[in-house]
Amino acid sequence: MKGLKTFSIGGVHPPGRKYLTDRKEIINAVIPGTFVVPMSQHLGAPSECLVSVGDKVSEGMLIGKSSGFISSNIHSPVPGTVKEIKDIYLPNGMLSKAVVIELEGEFDRLGKEQDAEDWKSFSKEDLLGIIAESGIVGLGGATFPANVKFMVPKGKKVEFLVINGVECEPYLTADHRLMLERADMILEGIRIIAAIVEPERIAIGIEINKPDAIEAMEKAAEKAAFPLEVVPLKIKYPQGDEKQLLKAVTGREVPSGALPIEIGCVVSNVGTVHAVYEAVVLKKPLIERVLTVTGGGIKEPKNLKARIGTPISSLIEECGGFSEVPEKVVVGGPMMGFTIYDLDTPVTKGTSGILALTSKEVKNAARTSCISCGRCVNACPMGLNPTTLFKFIDHGEYDEAEKIGLMDCKECGSCGFICPARIPLIQGMRLGKKMLRKKKVKA
Ligand code: SF4
Ligand code: SF4
Repeated sequence: MKGLKTFSIGGVHPPGRKYLTDRKEIINAVIPGTFVVPMSQHLGAPSECLVSVGDKVSEGMLIGKSSGFISSNIHSPVPGTVKEIKDIYLPNGMLSKAVVIELEGEFDRLGKEQDAEDWKSFSKEDLLGIIAESGIVGLGGATFPANVKFMVPKGKKVEFLVINGVECEPYLTADHRLMLERADMILEGIRIIAAIVEPERIAIGIEINKPDAIEAMEKAAEKAAFPLEVVPLKIKYPQGDEKQLLKAVTGREVPSGALPIEIGCVVSNVGTVHAVYEAVVLKKPLIERVLTVTGGGIKEPKNLKARIGTPISSLIEECGGFSEVPEKVVVGGPMMGFTIYDLDTPVTKGTSGILALTSKEVKNAARTSCISCGRCVNACPMGLNPTTLFKFIDHGEYDEAEKIGLMDCKECGSCGFICPARIPLIQGMRLGKKMLRKKKVKA
């Protein structure tokens, strides 16, 4: 469709495959007997564990305390007893301390009607305090603490509050369903954030493969006479990235290494906005999230509201199990997600989806040599040269890779997706960035 807004540089069009779940209502996931709650579920320092083996915990009780400016609180998803505290590997390969909770006792919130908080008289500081206390982080995958994001530095003004309803990763439909089913709550969440950051304009970007979500948000805004600009966007990956979304919606570019506030913008994903609503209005900490369990290898794909710490195996079982032995199981979307090898890996705040992909869905062609076709260069939304970056990283020349913009790489996977030689470009970028960070810490 001509005339639709989008970002200007690069981008790819992977097959969406959202039809597996985009008409399936969000349902509450079954509550298993054991939960594993990692203390690293956010960008920044791990939370300080507040419980010991044998302790009784209640639903929503603080069990991990934010340990720095960029860190976050963690709450018990269920009532129970702490059975073990152990180290586990997260899907991204990071090691984290985790609290193992065995379900036991009464739920404080589950199944009980909650009185809505009249938050309108709260100060900005009160609202930021509630968001911080509730452990809200960016649920789009970045997991940056939301209270820090909404803290506008002195001297800065927010011209645009941009809500991210793009969900451009193939297969995932959790945000889509949230906008359809909970548009009024998202709108209330937007009001809360707007009361904190005081933007001049508020917009939500939604790709046109979700016409019903565009309509739902338009109707909710109209009904409430709320000045929300609903911006339909052309379908292009990775439009859900903050920088690409801002370019598409506002036409503004975030400079290299800068944050959106530098260009007068604050961005928040619809899942995060919904969590802000629940924290402020329903006084509920972040103990569950909506995610999509899908892929050709899942018998009955679903959108589930699952408690943090639920083992992924329990959600797969709830979806009827595997329809065939999957080629791989991925946490997140197929472009930016991580393959896992242990199905007892728990759901964390950043888990937007669980995919069981069959061999038909995974491109298994053998890797060959680079044919210098330049497709990866054309696909990169950050204007980088992925093939040259990969060559430097492959030779251990990390400083050279940094000089040509490695740290600007968003790990979006567009280059690897388009590469005919099946070169593992995104894995290379991740390795290069990790090595650079290690080198800097050492220095
Ligand atoms: S993964 Fe990095 S280098 Fe590759 S296309 Fe995305 S931003 Fe560019
Ligand atoms: S897309 Fe693949 S084959 Fe083409 S230049 Fe990039 S790395 Fe080389």
